[in-house]
Amino acid sequence: MLLYGSGAEEMTTAVRQGGKERDMSRVYNFSAGPAVLPEEVLKEAAEEMLDYRGSGMSVMEMSHRSKVYDTIIKEAEADLRDLMQIPDNYKVLFLQGGASQQFAMIPMNLMKKKKAGYIVTGQWAKKAYQEAGIYGEAVKLASSEDKTFSYIPDCSDLDIPEDLDYVYICENNTIYGTKYKELPDTKGHTLVADVSSCFLSEPVDVTKYGVIYGGVQKNIGPAGVVIVIIREDLITEDTLPGTPTMLKYKTHADSDSLYNTPPCYGIYICGKVFKWIRKMGGLSVMKERNEEKAKLLYDFLDESRLFSGTVEKKDRSLMNVPFVTGNDELDAAFVKEAAAAGFVNLKGHRSVGGMRASIYNAMPKEGVEKLVEFMRKFEVEHV
Ligand SMILES: *Cc1c(COP(=O)(O)O)cnc(C)c1O
Repeated sequence: MLLYGSGAEEMTTAVRQGGKERDMSRVYNFSAGPAVLPEEVLKEAAEEMLDYRGSGMSVMEMSHRSKVYDTIIKEAEADLRDLMQIPDNYKVLFLQGGASQQFAMIPMNLMKKKKAGYIVTGQWAKKAYQEAGIYGEAVKLASSEDKTFSYIPDCSDLDIPEDLDYVYICENNTIYGTKYKELPDTKGHTLVADVSSCFLSEPVDVTKYGVIYGGVQKNIGPAGVVIVIIREDLITEDTLPGTPTMLKYKTHADSDSLYNTPPCYGIYICGKVFKWIRKMGGLSVMKERNEEKAKLLYDFLDESRLFSGTVEKKDRSLMNVPFVTGNDELDAAFVKEAAAAGFVNLKGHRSVGGMRASIYNAMPKEGVEKLVEFMRKFEVEHV
C-alpha cells in the first residue's frame, strides 16, 4: 500500500520549489478567500504594472472613461459572456461592496410584493435572509441549521407560497463545504443565487436563474468586485422607496457599470482570469480539473483512519473541503505543521473548527496531491 510520502525535509523542499513552472517563493494557499489566483495572471499583471501596453501608466492610474480602460472592461464582459454563454437578455454588472452588499440590493430591487423565500444552508445564506427581513417578509423555505449546515435540504418539492418575489439560495456554502447538485424547484418563481465560491468552477445554465451573483475574491479576482448577472426584465425603476441611486441595478445597467468609478484594477484582473480560463479550455475543462482535485482529497478522507470529512457525501462541494481529526489539539498541530511545510490557510472557519482546504480553479492539481501526501504522513505519525 502506498501510504507514506517523502520525509519532512524533502517534502518541504518539494513544496517550496514545486515543479519547474512554479515560483519558488510561493506557498500552496488553501485560503477560502481572498484566495489563490493563477500565477500566470499575476505575472502578466506584474509585467504590465508600470506601463500598461504602451499607455505609459498602470491600469490603477488611468481614467475609467479612457479608451484603453473601455477596452479592458468590454473585453472582460465579452469573455465572461463567452465562458458562461450568457444570453443577450441578461446584463453583466461589475459592482462594488462585495457579495454582502447584494444581501440588501437584491430585496431593494426585487421585493416588489415585499415577500421572498430563502433557503438557509449556511452563514452567508442566513445573513442574506436576515438582511431581507429588513425590507419585507423573508420566508425561510428550508434550512440545514439543525445539523450545523452539513447537508443541502431536499428542495424538490418545497412548500412555496404563491406570492413570493423570488427564491434565494447560496449555491456553494464556502464555510461548510456543501453545494447544491440540483437547483431547487422554485415552482415558477425567479431564482436568485449567490455563487461567490463556485463562480466559473463548472458550466452553468444561466437561463435557470433570474440573478446569479458573486464576490470575485474566491475564484476570480481581488476582493471588492462583485459580478451580478441579471435578467433584463428584473431591472426596473420600481425599487423599494428610499433605495439609493447607487444600489439600483438600473443605475449600473444603464451606464454599463460606469455610473461612477468602478473598481478598475480589480475588474482588469478578473478579465485576465477570464482569459486564463478560456485558454485552459473553458468551464467544462475547469469542471474536470476540479472534480479530479476534489476526488483526490475526498477519496483520501474516506479511507483515512485519522481525518474525516464533515458533510454529507452527496452534497460535497468541489471547492471547499472541510475535515477534522476529531481532536482539537491534533487539528491545531496539523494546521501548524502543514503551514511550516508550505500548505497555508488550512484552518477551518471558527464556526466549524477543524480544517478546510479551499481548492479553487487556480489551485494546481499538484498542490492537492502534495497536501494529501502530507496528510498521509501526518496520519502515520499520529495514529
Ligand atoms: C465570501 C462570501 C460572501 C461574502 O463576500 P464579501 O465580498 O466579503 O461580502 C458571501 N457569500 C459567499 C457564498 C461567500 O463565500
